[in-house]
Amino acid sequence: MGEAKAAAAAAGTDEGGKTFDAIVIGAGVAGLYQVYRLRELGFSVRGIEAASGVGGTWYWNRYPGARFDSEAEIYQYWFDEAMFKNWQPSERYPAQPETERWLNYVADRADLRKHFLFDTRVTAARYDEAAQLWAVDTDRGERLQARFLISCTGMLSAPLNEVFPGQASFRGQIHHTARWPKERVEFVGKRVGVVGTGATGIQVIQTIAPQVGHLTVFLRTPQYVIPMRNPKYTPADWAKQGARFAEIRDRIQRTFSGFEYDFSNGAWADLTPAQRTEVLERLWADGSLALWLASFSEMFFDEQVNEAVSEFVRQKMRERLKDPALCDKLIPTTYGFGTHRVPLESQYLEVYHQPNVDIVDVKASPIERIVPEGVMTADGTVHELDILILATGFDAGSGALTRIDIRGRGGRSLKEDWSREIRTSMGLQVHGYPNLFTTGAPLAPSAALCNMTTCLQQQVDWITDCIRSMREQGRREIEPSKAFEDAWVAHHDETANRTLVVKTHSWYMGSNVEGKPRRLLSYIGGVGTYRQKCDEVATSGYRGFTFA
Ligand code: NAP
Repeated sequence: MGEAKAAAAAAGTDEGGKTFDAIVIGAGVAGLYQVYRLRELGFSVRGIEAASGVGGTWYWNRYPGARFDSEAEIYQYWFDEAMFKNWQPSERYPAQPETERWLNYVADRADLRKHFLFDTRVTAARYDEAAQLWAVDTDRGERLQARFLISCTGMLSAPLNEVFPGQASFRGQIHHTARWPKERVEFVGKRVGVVGTGATGIQVIQTIAPQVGHLTVFLRTPQYVIPMRNPKYTPADWAKQGARFAEIRDRIQRTFSGFEYDFSNGAWADLTPAQRTEVLERLWADGSLALWLASFSEMFFDEQVNEAVSEFVRQKMRERLKDPALCDKLIPTTYGFGTHRVPLESQYLEVYHQPNVDIVDVKASPIERIVPEGVMTADGTVHELDILILATGFDAGSGALTRIDIRGRGGRSLKEDWSREIRTSMGLQVHGYPNLFTTGAPLAPSAALCNMTTCLQQQVDWITDCIRSMREQGRREIEPSKAFEDAWVAHHDETANRTLVVKTHSWYMGSNVEGKPRRLLSYIGGVGTYRQKCDEVATSGYRGFTFA
């Protein structure tokens, strides 16, 4: 019996096995691992998941063309070498169905499913200061309790799906990419519209363009794009990766972005123009995110370097786009390369050469409302559609948590606190919310600038070690001090404000959600540096955190 459960039973508060050492929200990459780790240490743990299966992002984002752009050999768990070796990715960047299958394979192999309540959404969580327990309410009318509440709710999981007035009046089908139906959506011969050209919209557009009758892309901000090189992986290829298991695992903990590659091309200023071009060409040809996350770190700080790399990418795009009018529409000029998420793509730009594909410039004439026939723009035009796809993104970082009514000490509300300022202590806890741990949360490295499996496992490991050390020391409550949190926020801001990233509009800064406080949502000091800082806190006996 777990410690919280025993205490609750002794106090007569364990209503029918509803009290746990920990409740984990989410059965995605982080949630599965968090449940695994706590269970292995003998804690009682209950996972709660809104979906009907495991997978998180890979459950919800089943839109056409969804795939990751982390290499299959790094988008992995590291707790079971045989599990790695016995899985055979089909290619370097597998698509959503395969990644969802992989997470099911992990859940089955580690026997994790039985710990989760599926089809159950956490609606509220309130910290009971006297009992030092979290009371967690679900949309099934159940109340569970736990000493620790751990959110594994994902950085990009609160979809912006109510974007335009009149959506309910649309006569055709309307789908947000992160709520894509399991049933097949038939595109053949249909008039389809896509709003959004982020990493998601690009994948959708390039995938459905060959099938649709007509495609209308409602374009507001074009993207710098890199063509993906996605070779098939044979069993022999995967055996080679398996032989490198420990090497890969150890390497990705220390790099800037949690990928295998890192900035290792020398300083921009030390190279001749020809040498710089040689590096950029080599990384371009790799067809990965290395051009962004492992070329020249100066690109993030120095406007001239950034402009040079941006121009390199623009020229690559021009060569493919040929038509100057398309170049004007599709090649970014108002922000620098890499100052927000760089998508990998396959034949995305070529789509716009198809005669049945049109761009509607919604910067010039914004979408005003959805009408029964389609999309009405500010100039009064109605763009008639059968299917409207919203690739409009997410309330990133904070949205998954502010959509739950979370109440900390004195009944304070996380939603209200974060409506004024989004703050955390290393993205792992929030002052005022004892015993709440967070993964994939603001002010830690995450989706923006990290291979998610790397960052999430590191955060889960830190949380697990902390909870284990509390058990060893007989401690029941942990909370970061205000001073510690202030110092982390100040360090985070100082690191962020030295970069050009803070100057670009995107979900990275929260500027895609009206009224959301602005702050870079991901820590940009590097995955290796962040890990070191987290480790220092742990080895100091959690200096900056108060215990009860
Ligand atoms: P996103 O990057 O936030 O893109 C949203 C798009 O919707 C933008 O083009 C935005 O235009 C547009 N938009 C939003 N509201 C609009 C409006 N009212 N009118 C016109 N356009 C509007 O979201 P996302 O593409 O879903 O990607 C989010 C993140 O998920 C990515 O950055 C990435 O981290 C992750 N992701 C990863 C992969 C992968 O691993 N390959 C794939 C997909 C997503 P503006 O830019 O003008 O606001």
